[in-house]
Amino acid sequence: MNLTNIGTVKEILGRHGFSFSKGLGQNFIINPDICPKIAENGNARQGYGVLEIGTGIGVLTKELALRADKVSAVEIDTRLLPILEETLEGFDNVHIYNEDVMKCDLRKIIEEDFKGLKAAVCANLPYYITSPVLMLLLESRLPVESITVMVQKEAAQRLCAKVGSRESGAITVAVNYYGKAKQLFGVSRGSFMPAPNVDSAVIKIEPYAEPMLDPESEKYFFRVVKGGFSQRRKTALNALSSQLSISKEVVGEALRNAGLAENVRLEQLEMDELIALSSALKELDKSK
Ligand code: SAM
Repeated sequence: MNLTNIGTVKEILGRHGFSFSKGLGQNFIINPDICPKIAENGNARQGYGVLEIGTGIGVLTKELALRADKVSAVEIDTRLLPILEETLEGFDNVHIYNEDVMKCDLRKIIEEDFKGLKAAVCANLPYYITSPVLMLLLESRLPVESITVMVQKEAAQRLCAKVGSRESGAITVAVNYYGKAKQLFGVSRGSFMPAPNVDSAVIKIEPYAEPMLDPESEKYFFRVVKGGFSQRRKTALNALSSQLSISKEVVGEALRNAGLAENVRLEQLEMDELIALSSALKELDKSK
């Protein structure tokens, strides 16, 4: 069954009385070039189990299942289950979990379903939860080699921006703290049914095997990043002092101890400078 043929897709959806849910970010891929490219770039191959988030009617699921040893997919919309039974008929290496990705135990799925295999994540993410899903995957330090996902073009630019550039934000720092992120290719809005109002891009994150900081320093680091970047156009001195309720004298001393100028903005700092500043501030911060 060709799941990128508009006639075929309309016929299946119509027969099942399915209507797209905007709230669930349902824009299904109908451009035949995209799913094979995501699968090939996303480690869907022998020796791998792939976790997919949001199957839709299974257009990407199928390409993953053709290449990887196993595919476990989480899909929240119960209405899609009878459709998937039809579209994925004959693929006995696919398991669908009818759950909310934000609430299910992804580690358990990976550990139990992918025993003896390496793991990877591939998805055309529902746009309304792009950042929460990525943060969930990264913060829970799932044992995955790569996370290859389609996101809105603007989100891709922000996620893959260089830390220390104007395009970077708290999410850029977070993603780059946990792994190496790069943009793979752009996808036009016409590649989806229904077509969204924005273009998309596929990005790949390769999580680092070891954390950069110990748990306590990591927690403090993210307090600094979240607080500081919420007032990104202010100087680090003003933003951190007001957001973390630390006196300007102390923040100033931390900046000096980290070898940074007093008028620097957080968005100008590279990863090692942000870490140096957070460590220096943690040393001096009596409230922590
Ligand atoms: N992979 C399919 C494709 O590319 O055509 C569908 C992608 S569509 C952008 C996102 C999918 O994620 C939808 O099928 C939607 O129902 C599902 N979804 C939305 N929120 C979800 C959640 N919280 N947990 C699991 N799946 C979710």
